[in-house]
Amino acid sequence: MLNKLTIDDISVKGKKVLLRCDFNVPIVDGKITDENRITEELPTIKKLLSDGARLIMCSHLGKPKGYDESLSLKPVAERLSELLSMDIKFISTPDVVNDEVRALAEGLKDGEAMLLENTRFRKEETKCEEAFSEDLAGICDIFVNDAFGTAHRAHCSNVGVAKLKDVSAIGYLMEKEVSFLGNAVEDPVRPFAAILGGSKVSSKISVINNLLDKVDLLVIGGGMAYTFLKSCGVKVGKSLVEDEYLEYAGEMLKKAEEKGVKLLLPVDNLAVKEFDNDAPSRIVDGDLMDDEMAVDIGPKTVALFSEALKNAKTVVWNGPMGVFEKPNFAKGTYEIAKLLSELDATTIIGGGDSASAVNNLGFGDAMTHISTGGGASLEFLEGKELPGIAAVMDK
Ligand code: AMP
Repeated sequence: MLNKLTIDDISVKGKKVLLRCDFNVPIVDGKITDENRITEELPTIKKLLSDGARLIMCSHLGKPKGYDESLSLKPVAERLSELLSMDIKFISTPDVVNDEVRALAEGLKDGEAMLLENTRFRKEETKCEEAFSEDLAGICDIFVNDAFGTAHRAHCSNVGVAKLKDVSAIGYLMEKEVSFLGNAVEDPVRPFAAILGGSKVSSKISVINNLLDKVDLLVIGGGMAYTFLKSCGVKVGKSLVEDEYLEYAGEMLKKAEEKGVKLLLPVDNLAVKEFDNDAPSRIVDGDLMDDEMAVDIGPKTVALFSEALKNAKTVVWNGPMGVFEKPNFAKGTYEIAKLLSELDATTIIGGGDSASAVNNLGFGDAMTHISTGGGASLEFLEGKELPGIAAVMDK
């Protein structure tokens, strides 16, 4: 179990607490189009405020190169003010921390809060360079990291600042993420199944390898399945294939066999000749023609996967079963999401595309846990230590 200090272990009354949040929300024309990441953060914020912290929140937003008004956190400050029914003070400056911001932080009373500007407006942020880490450490007494989505990166606002403070802790959201993902992988109720999909084998090599040591069943769909199928001699036409990973795919199939892990691949697929939602399509059992590409799993595959998954007690899912962004290629992903929503099991959705697929398809509420971090949850499933968590003090 995670041995990090949490906000339940520290005393924050009258202290300036810098809270690293993940407010990386989609903003279109100044309007937040999905506020999930903000509402998920509210329990930690409310706890710190009710304990009398002087709260200074920070987050990154998007990938700005220097100051970019369209990536200002101002809309987030305004929404937080509404959601918390209180004034969330905010100063927009390319420096993120300057004298005016320091004065504002210094003037906070117990239970008051402010938000800093987008941490990535500072070029030092993603390089974890001292100048910005020191600016952040200089305005607070205690550092709390609750941004799971960036925990796999070592930046100033999570790792740099944590190292400079005598007291650091994790927030409730981080604790929740780590306990769901951690328990699932380290101490799962069995049978334990993983479903992997998405585009490439190359981006999930270590995940496949690590999960094969843990799971009872591994289901592979989506673009990455076709490298595996090709390695078994199936003709996959123009489907997404990474030829340089054919050998690796073969090794993983062998490893599964040696470990007694059941590994399932698609047996039929939806094939098109043009990568277009309205292109003519057909369901193909086995070999594709040279000019066809597979864009979704077929009905026999859905039935095969469903039958194997139905007794699972823990399921981790990362990566869609097809090109789910196109409605005509989303059926396989939809069917798997629906199946998971009906299972009597702990269902954990790795962030990123699988999370948006499950939410967009309307099954979000039926899952046990949907991770807020795509890259971070993947690295967690790889068995790696996340720097943003490692930097926080142990209990
Ligand atoms: P990832 O980021 O690796 O999880 O991949 C997600 C992406 O994989 C989505 O944008 C899907 O459209 C894409 N994807 C899923 N299945 C396929 C497929 N059969 N062919 C090409 N791309 C796919």
